[in-house]
This record gives sequence, structure tokens and C-alpha cells, in this order.
Amino acid sequence: MDPQKSPLLEVKGNIELKRPLIKAPSRLPLSGSTLKRRPDQMEDGLEPEKKRTRGLGATTRITTSHPRVPSLTTVPQTQGQTTAQKVSKKTGPRCSTAIATGLKNQKPVPAVPVQKSGTSGVPPMAGGKKPSKRPAWDLKGQLCDRNAELKRCRERTQTLDQENQQLQDQLRDAQQQAKALGTERKTLEGHLAKVQAQAEQGQQELKNLRACVLELEERLSTQEGLVQELQKKQVELQEERRGLTSQLEEKERRLQTSEAALSSSRAEVASLRQETVAQAALLTEREERLHGLEMERRRLHNQLQELKGNIRVFCRVRPVLPGEPTPPPGLLLFPSGPGGPSDPLTRLSLSRSDERRGTLSGAPAPPTRHDFSFDRVFPPGSGQDEVFEEIAMLVQSALDGYPVCIFAYGQTGSGKTFTMEGGPGGDPQLAGLIPRALRHLFSVAQELSGQGWTYSFVASYVEIYNETVRDLLATGTRKGQGGECEIRRAGPGSEELTVTNARYVPVSCEKEVEALLHLARQNRAVARTAQNERSSRSHSVFQLQISGEHSSRGLQCGAPLSLVDLAGSERLDPGLALGPGERERLRETQAINSSLSTLGLVIMALSNKESHVPYRNSKLTYLLQNSLGGSAKMLMFVNISPLEENVSESLNSLRFASKVNQCVIGTAQANRK
Ligand code: ADP
Ligand code: MG
Repeated sequence: MDPQKSPLLEVKGNIELKRPLIKAPSRLPLSGSTLKRRPDQMEDGLEPEKKRTRGLGATTRITTSHPRVPSLTTVPQTQGQTTAQKVSKKTGPRCSTAIATGLKNQKPVPAVPVQKSGTSGVPPMAGGKKPSKRPAWDLKGQLCDRNAELKRCRERTQTLDQENQQLQDQLRDAQQQAKALGTERKTLEGHLAKVQAQAEQGQQELKNLRACVLELEERLSTQEGLVQELQKKQVELQEERRGLTSQLEEKERRLQTSEAALSSSRAEVASLRQETVAQAALLTEREERLHGLEMERRRLHNQLQELKGNIRVFCRVRPVLPGEPTPPPGLLLFPSGPGGPSDPLTRLSLSRSDERRGTLSGAPAPPTRHDFSFDRVFPPGSGQDEVFEEIAMLVQSALDGYPVCIFAYGQTGSGKTFTMEGGPGGDPQLAGLIPRALRHLFSVAQELSGQGWTYSFVASYVEIYNETVRDLLATGTRKGQGGECEIRRAGPGSEELTVTNARYVPVSCEKEVEALLHLARQNRAVARTAQNERSSRSHSVFQLQISGEHSSRGLQCGAPLSLVDLAGSERLDPGLALGPGERERLRETQAINSSLSTLGLVIMALSNKESHVPYRNSKLTYLLQNSLGGSAKMLMFVNISPLEENVSESLNSLRFASKVNQCVIGTAQANRK
């Protein structure tokens, strides 16, 4: 046993170095001189072990502060041992480790006092007396001392062996403890690994969460942008809403006003309804009266027309056309009526100087004056409207259900076509009787529709040339060809006449009538030849069948309105040489003269109320028989040329017209059904 080392230090070293302590006693120094070794030298000797033990520092440090570890340096050696043992027993392996650690951390303090003479560290002498220094000679005494000392040392060795044994026990415990701690450490390391893995996982999660947070932050900023936008919109909408609210308020105000107006209007409507009922009753009464008045008007109108004469003759003198020779003054005179110049003209004087009638003195005979009187005379300046005004009443009679027939009689170039159809170029101012009469009829029919009358009009337009009838409204392949037409009764026992193969066209407006007149002009132009101006050698007959109905009263009326542009009335010059053309012309003229004289005869027969009226003697009278009879009203225009060269023909025309004018056809009867 090393006397310089404290047994406890030895223990420590054994524990830490895990060296078998069994050899320790053999190393114990026997010489006291070796006890003089310094504590720091002892420490040095322990250094490697100390360094090694630091590896366990983490484990041991946990227990160094254990309060139950006693400070061994201040405890006397035996006591310290006992305490250590007690502690070891009490606390188990953990505590012994603590002890070892406690030792390691302290500076080694020699447990056995350094032997110095005269110090308190020398064990007391047996018997309690301090051994005194023996004189050199007292060898026996010294031996005795040495023996005593040896004895103590042996005792001590024994004690130390026991102690060593205990310490070895402790060491085993400590080793077991260390093993347990190792296991525990492994477990803890496992835990640590787990914890680290968890930490890593946590960090990964943290990372993910950070990414999540970033994403959420981004979304948040987007959402914030959206929110801002929405807030902006909200502001705008609020603004709009304010505007709409004010509009609504305004509208509500207006609505209230309107409702007030409405309620007052309703009251007004109610009173108006009552008034309307009263008015309706009044209206019915007035309608009754109006109808009575209309019938009365028709009766009176007819009476007036009868008073004017059922056959009337108007004379119209056309103006001198540019390029024509000016007639001598006084050739045609228009004397005023008894009422003065304001009276409508009715008289005409034609002066003709007869060259064959010379005076005995050889001087030219004074011109013979022929005076004529007609229902109206229109001098050259008279306009188409002025002329129509006079016949408008007659056209009205046609609507009232009386047949009306208007003729234009006169030599070629006297203005018949101008009077009937109108001037060239479609000038509305120059429109003739046909378009004006139809316009008048359409407008009056429109007015009468208010009184419950419904009218329909069907037009036809034919020409009679050399006693053949030709349709002027033919279209397509029949255009201008003049396919043979025949005049037939509409049905067996019927008074009505129709022209076979001729077109009967319903008309309801002026445009349609204009189109028909245009078509008729085209058809005439196609038939024209160089030698023969056929239109002037034929009669053109425009007929309009008028049908009126008053359905609520069950009334019907119908009558034809005929407007006839007669063929030129001029006679053939008897002095002319008869070539092939002239012969044809002669035949034409004979046909014309025959039909015109038949017309005169028919009028005469009607006037004289003869039992036989020679309608059938000409196609013209046959076609017009329904428009000439007793119930009909007739008007003849005698057209006169103002030229001196035409005086003879003018005189003939005027004579013919005068004869007609003297005729009076019996009282006309309206064609009422
Ligand atoms: P008719 O048919 O009797 O042969 P027209 O009607 O063809 O005669 O007339 C011959 C010419 O005289 C035409 O150029 C026509 O324009 C013109 N004329 C006839 N009457 C008048 C009139 N009242 N005012 C102006 N020109 C007229
Ligand atoms: Mg003509």
C-alpha cells in the first residue's frame, strides 16, 4: 500500500481506471520518506484518469451538486470511511458515483496526516501519552516504538484491506451503475435520435409551414388587392345607389303626381263615358238625320240636274296653237249673258263669209253670223279645272245611282282628246275629265264611307273603229292586235251589257287610272299607221261601273259612268279624187258619220219618247244604251277649232250640238235596287 496516497484517492483511481485493486497492498511503501510527495504530484499522477473521466462529465455533472454528498476533506479518516460506507449503503450506486465525482473535483487532500515530528497528525501513543524522543542509546525503547508502530501499521493495513474490499464492492456497484447508465444513455440517445428526427421533421414542417405562410401571405396580398378593388367598387356602387335612390324618389314623386292626375282623369273618364253614351245616342239620331238629309240631297240634286236638263251641251273652243294662223277678229264671238260679264258664258256667235253669195254690185257679201246657245260655253282660255267644275255635279249623280254619259264631239284636232284625257306630258294641271272624274269619285266615295256606304269601281276602255270593238286595255300578246270583241248582254234577261274579250279592271286610286290611260295610249300608238291616224277615226269609250252599298240599311245603287271621245266629225271633201287610200277613208268616214247620226237619232227618239230607239244601228249606241235611256243624264261637249279654215266644220258641229241641245230626255230615275 502506497502510504502517500489517501485510501480514498486510491479508491477514486480504482474506480476510474477500473484497475483491479487486489494488487494494491503489494505496492504499499514501507518507507516514510516517500510520504513527502506533494499533493500536486499526486494530482499529476492522476491526470490521465482525470482526463478520461471528463468524457463522462455530462453524466456525472448531473449529480455533483447533490446536496447529500458530504465533504470528505473535513471528516476524520475513519469517520469519513464510515460516512462513505453509510452513504453508499443509503444512496446506492448513484451516490457512490457522486462521491467519486466529488473527489475528482476536489484537490486531493491527504487523508493521512503527514508524519512530522511534533505534529498532531502522529497517532497517539498507547496509553494516551505522547511518545517522547528516545535517546540514541535507548535502542530497546526505539525498537519498542517501532514495534508499536508496526503493529499500528498492520492494524491499519487490515483496516485498509477491509476498506479496499468495501471499495471493490462499491466499484462493482458503480460498474453496474455505469452499465445501467450506459443502457440509460443508449435509451436516451435513442430518445435523442427520435427527438432529433422529430426536430428535423418539425423543421421540415416548419419549412413547409413557412412556404405555406409565404403562399398565404401572397394570397393575402392578392385578397387585399381584391378587397381594395371591391371597396372601390362598393364606393362606386354606393354612389350609383345614391343616384338611383334620388332618381327613384323623383320617379315616386312623379308617380304620385301621375296617380293624382290618373284618379282625376278616371273621374273625368267616367263623366266622359256618360257623356259619350249621351253623344252616341245623339250620334245615332244625327246619323239617322244625316241619312235622311243625304237621301234628300240626292233627290234635290237630281231635281236640279233635271232642271238643268238631262241632256246638256257644253261648247268648248280650243286656243290657237303655236304655228297656227291667227283667225280674223270677230270669227268667233262670246256674247255675255243677260247678267253681264259676271254671268257664265252660254252663247257663241260664228261669222262666216259666204263667197258663193256675192252681191249684185260684185262687192263681197257681209259675213253671215250664226248664233248658238248652249248650257255652257268655254272660250279658248278656259282651264281643265274650270271645265270639270261644271261636270262635277254630274259625276256626283253617277255615285247617287244615275247613269251618266259624257261625249266629246267635234272635228279632228278640235280638242276632244285634250278635254277627255288631258294634255300631253302628264301635267296634272292639264289632266282631263276622265282622271278628274275618277279622283272626284274616289274622294266622295271615301266621304260617304263615313255614312256607311261602300263603293267599288270597275273600269273598261274600248275603241270602236269601222264598227268593230277593240280593247284598249289589252296586254301581252293581245296588245295592239285588237282581237275581236263583241257586245253581249251580261246574262239572259239582263239589262247589263259587257264586251267579250275586254278587260274589266277594278280601280281604287288615281295611280291605277293613270296606268290604264297610259296603257290605252300605248295600244292606240301600236295600231297607228302612216296614212291613218286611227285614234281620230274611232270612238274611244271609257266606262266605269260604279257599285255602292249601304249594308246596315240594305241599300244598293249602281250605274255606269261613260266618257266617250268620239271620232272626228268632219265630212269627206266631195271634190277629192278617189284613190285606194281615199276609198278606205271614205268607208271610215261613212262608218263614223253613220254612228254619229245614229247617236243623234237615238237622242231624238229618246227626246220624242218614240217607242223605238235605234240603239242597234251602231255599235256605239248599242254599247251605250244603258247610259242614254230615260233615267240617264247626258252631257255633250262640242269641241270647236278657232281657225278660220275650220269654220265650215265648226258650223256643222254647232248645228249638230244645237239639235241635241233642244232634246229633253224624260225624267231620270235613279237605278236603285
Ligand atoms: P281631237 O282629239 O279632237 O282630234 P286633240 O285633243 O288631239 O283633238 O287636240 C288637238 C291639239 O290641240 C292637241 O295638240 C291639243 O293639245 C291641243 N288642244 C286641244 N284643246 C286644247 C286646249 N283647250 N288648250 C290647249 N291646247 C289644246
Ligand atoms: Mg282625239
